Amino acid sequence: MFRKVLIANRGEIALRIHRACKEMGISTVAIHSTADADAMHVRLADESVCIGPPPAGRSYLNIPAVISACEVTGAEAIHPGYGFLSENAAFVQVVEDHGLAFIGPTAEHIRVMGDKIAAKDTMKALGVPCVPGSDGGVATVEEAMEVAKEMGFPVLVKAASGGGGRGMKVAETADDLAVAFSSARSEAKAAFGDDTVYIEKYLGRPRHIEIQVFGDGMGRAVHLGERDCSLQRRHQKVFEECPSPALDAARRAEIGKTCAEAVAAMNYRGAGTIEFLYENGEFYFIEMNTRLQVEHPVTEAVYRVDLVKEQLRVAAGEGMTMRQEDLVPVGHAIECRINAERLPSFAPCPGEITAFHAPGGLGVRMDSGIYDGYRIPPHYDSLIGKLIVHAEDRPAALARLDRALSELIVDGIDTTAPLFDALVHDPAVISGDYDIRWLEGWLEQMTA
Ligand code: ADP
Repeated sequence: MFRKVLIANRGEIALRIHRACKEMGISTVAIHSTADADAMHVRLADESVCIGPPPAGRSYLNIPAVISACEVTGAEAIHPGYGFLSENAAFVQVVEDHGLAFIGPTAEHIRVMGDKIAAKDTMKALGVPCVPGSDGGVATVEEAMEVAKEMGFPVLVKAASGGGGRGMKVAETADDLAVAFSSARSEAKAAFGDDTVYIEKYLGRPRHIEIQVFGDGMGRAVHLGERDCSLQRRHQKVFEECPSPALDAARRAEIGKTCAEAVAAMNYRGAGTIEFLYENGEFYFIEMNTRLQVEHPVTEAVYRVDLVKEQLRVAAGEGMTMRQEDLVPVGHAIECRINAERLPSFAPCPGEITAFHAPGGLGVRMDSGIYDGYRIPPHYDSLIGKLIVHAEDRPAALARLDRALSELIVDGIDTTAPLFDALVHDPAVISGDYDIRWLEGWLEQMTA
């Protein structure tokens, strides 16, 4: 096992990785920008290195600075967390060229899955069901029109390099296609430096269901069921649960097996998530994320595993301890993303936290780097914590979430916690009957 690991991230996920390392006897190196000198993960890590000023481009995304921090401290491996450098194939190459281990998949797997067209082709060839669409990129509006007419409107124009919901435009009818096509292209060019787009059937009211997979890089892989992340605002997940209220054990086993076999065939290494839209009982692959996800704790609760420890073992060449036959889901888990944002606009609300009390008790986990007196810097995303509950079934998990939320105190700033106070009592949430558009509609009604 590694003796020392560098954590190339910040916030709650940096702390999450630190905790797994400590329990395995691994010393940790935190890197941070000048804005994060007082962060909890920096305080708790065995060593820390300031790698630059607040803008992420000059600190957390500065590859030479990250590599230098490894060399200075003698860290042998880098855990990238999520976001930042976690899905940057060029970074993985540099890490390996320096004789360091990257705690994640190979550069090649990241590259293929980072290109949504190549990802879809790969998955299709491996028997994973995909959203109907164009065969690869479409270069002209005429070509787009041909594909769309054959498939039927509405269609979605999507950027091959897209992420974070950018470079994605809906064309309801043939009249909208030219505008959707050119605006998706220019948005993609501006955001990703690549204007390749493709066409997909636009699904009306699907759920977002994703399968957690894990491979040992040597042809063995498992699945850890699904997460339902249908409660979204602007294509961003807000509330996630495991298992999905929409699947039964047979359907779960079937799609799980398809996904595990696909990643085994790829010789995939480490944690990955295969994302699907789910409508009328059918799964449609949209993308694969080649990293640990924000919402991984709901899977950990229900499958009783530590995904970060497993990532560390596989990266260190010790192999995977998980076996499919042992991965039996127990109970129900829900995660709420607590953001420093002011409702109802969701405007970022950085500032000083004057009081913080984390809920506790049986089945409650709070992953957060905040503390009394902590000042949230304005430079990064607004996630300040994740509240995760686990109980014997879905009604008990909702009751536990309600109880845990009543204990949470974050004073000095506004957070999205009140949103969840309302959601846990909503009939649609209680029944589990919602899709990816439901929350937007609910929010509109609440503010009307
Ligand atoms: P990104 O990488 O930008 O997050 P994804 O392909 O993962 O893009 O899609 C993000 C979200 O956009 C999905 O969770 C879903 O809400 C919506 N979406 C994506 N593809 C489709 C589609 N074909 N039909 C309807 N909605 C879609």
